[in-house]
Amino acid sequence: MNKTNIQKSKRAERKRRRQRIVRMQLLAIMATISFIVFLVYNKVHIKEQPKVKVEPTKEVQQSYPQEKTTKKKEEGNKKLAKSKEAKKIWKNNKKLLILVNKENICPEDGLSRRKICNGRIEAADILYSDLCQMLTDAGKEGYNYWIASGYRSAKKQQKLVDEDVRIGMNQGLSYEDALEKTYEETMPAGYSEHQTGLALDILASSNLNMDISQENTAENKWMKEHCYEYGFILRYPKDKENITKISYEPWHFRYVGKEAAEYIRKNNLTLEEFYLKL
Ligand SMILES: [Zn+2]
Repeated sequence: MNKTNIQKSKRAERKRRRQRIVRMQLLAIMATISFIVFLVYNKVHIKEQPKVKVEPTKEVQQSYPQEKTTKKKEEGNKKLAKSKEAKKIWKNNKKLLILVNKENICPEDGLSRRKICNGRIEAADILYSDLCQMLTDAGKEGYNYWIASGYRSAKKQQKLVDEDVRIGMNQGLSYEDALEKTYEETMPAGYSEHQTGLALDILASSNLNMDISQENTAENKWMKEHCYEYGFILRYPKDKENITKISYEPWHFRYVGKEAAEYIRKNNLTLEEFYLKL
């Protein structure tokens, strides 16, 4: 082989070697790409798998709110479980347990009434003897009271509303604002419990202010403690304002009869909550 042939052969050899290297590099790149694709696929796949499991189907999604509602209901029912005893008491005392509040209008056909407090006030006939007994027993303990209000007709209630609206407007409120402010404390005509004849505003004779100061009097403390024994309940307690939707009124007592009053007292209920147990 001459010199030129040897050089050609070496060049061809180098060329083949370069081609081999390029092929190997290509293979290595392809292998790397395949490996990356494999990893990415798996990663995505692994990520997606629980997603498929966790993401609720349309059907499951639809059932979520229902499940929550049921749970809430159950929690509510746990607190105020339906009671056969409450139902029995209600059946025996339907007339005395009339529920009148911002959502429930007073029925037109009211209970028969009589004059009390020397004819100054009217109240349902049915509460009379228990009221007399309660005031007599309190008197024996040295506590005396002034009944400020009993039965009130829808017409009288409307007059109270009009009067409060007038006061509000005199203070510079618009009619709408004055009416709104009035309804925070005074019930609209037809929605006052006083219209049943079963509600009484009972003040301590030592303090005739119909306001929160009543609760500090010994008379009010006795009345709140013992009214249940005579068939009365404190209708708007301090800690239940969110349920009754009425501000705490230490002077407003409601006759429901002894059986219901004792049950309501024992279970620490308002009249609204008693109805939830039926
Ligand atoms: Zn009242």
